[in-house]
Amino acid sequence: MPPDIGQAMKQIAFEQGPIRPPSEAGSLLFRFTRNCPWNKCSFCTVYKGKEFSRRSLDEIKGDIDAAAEIFQDLRTLSSGMGFVGGFPREALEIVFSSTRYNDFYRQAALWLYTGKGSVFIQDANSFVLPASVISEAIRHLKRKIPGITRITSYGRSGTLARMDSAELEQIRKAGLDRVHIGMESGSDRVLKLIRKGVSAKRQVEAGRKVVEAGMELSEYIMPGLGGKEISEDHARESARVLNEIDPHFIRLRSLRIPSRAPLHDEWRSGRFTPLSDDETAAEIRLFISLLDGISSQVKSDHIMNLLEEVEGKLPEEKDKMLATIDRYLAMPDHERLLFRLGRRGGALRRLDEINDPAIRRRLETAVRDLAPESAGDIEKLIKELADQYI
Ligand code: SF4
Repeated sequence: MPPDIGQAMKQIAFEQGPIRPPSEAGSLLFRFTRNCPWNKCSFCTVYKGKEFSRRSLDEIKGDIDAAAEIFQDLRTLSSGMGFVGGFPREALEIVFSSTRYNDFYRQAALWLYTGKGSVFIQDANSFVLPASVISEAIRHLKRKIPGITRITSYGRSGTLARMDSAELEQIRKAGLDRVHIGMESGSDRVLKLIRKGVSAKRQVEAGRKVVEAGMELSEYIMPGLGGKEISEDHARESARVLNEIDPHFIRLRSLRIPSRAPLHDEWRSGRFTPLSDDETAAEIRLFISLLDGISSQVKSDHIMNLLEEVEGKLPEEKDKMLATIDRYLAMPDHERLLFRLGRRGGALRRLDEINDPAIRRRLETAVRDLAPESAGDIEKLIKELADQYI
């Protein structure tokens, strides 16, 4: 009979926000602020209708203490089963199979089991808090929870550009390793269109400050965000701005427009024309071709991206990334249709997989069977499949 940690302890919980970057999928989440202090970007619905607030240092520490108690309980469980160090699969199975452990225990158990050690600080812009508060909260986190290997957070360029370099250095010394910035575009026309509230110049200042403070920088670019109207400027200016920053990571997250987003109204009223999948691929090609003189790692780790394998280290893997896009764009129409259906429907991830006979048979059958159901509009179906991830 496995040891039990007692009913009461399993009710421990702490506050968490709604999202984290895809690369933080296994991270432990702590909420330093609630929602987004800007909340005006026209493509984004994550925090719409939710009020922004700063959490006090005491509140944040309280959450960290609650998490520390959970970890203590889990270590007790593991050692009670005769395991010294680590968190074995057997203990993980107990936590996941018993309804007496809540989701916080499950998250913590998985975190221990995978040994990934990463922590992500929520929500949209932690840097609105005083540097002293962020630093003390991070120090408390590292004191209370052993095994942390990386701490990261979202930050807005406007806020980061306004900060003193000394404040950023203080936060880095406390233990913040990486900042994720939703740059979206380096084009002032696009930034204005989507009400990002920051100029390209400020994006450069913010990015450089983060890098100079010694933290890793992850910049998110949103292919398609200029629509057909500003596509080329979006690609060219985003590359120019990133060439000035040289971030550690450039992450692609292709645009999908939720029906609740203000940008959806622009689209419906004819003021914004979304790119097709193929046009988005061509825009990404132009963007990557213009990245120059930098050593960033391009990542395509978002489900919204059609070509997930367009990834690589600059400059050495630039040609490989361009070749992948060229290969897709050169495929016959029917092949591209099959690939898009397969990718959006979750049947495949890489271009080569289209040649797998079993996958291909399924996709051909789907195209044949689904066409009558959707009044022949396969494009509508592919869009619906892709939009399920919004
Ligand atoms: S700053 Fe980020 S979270 Fe806030 S509205 Fe814009 S995209 Fe959304």
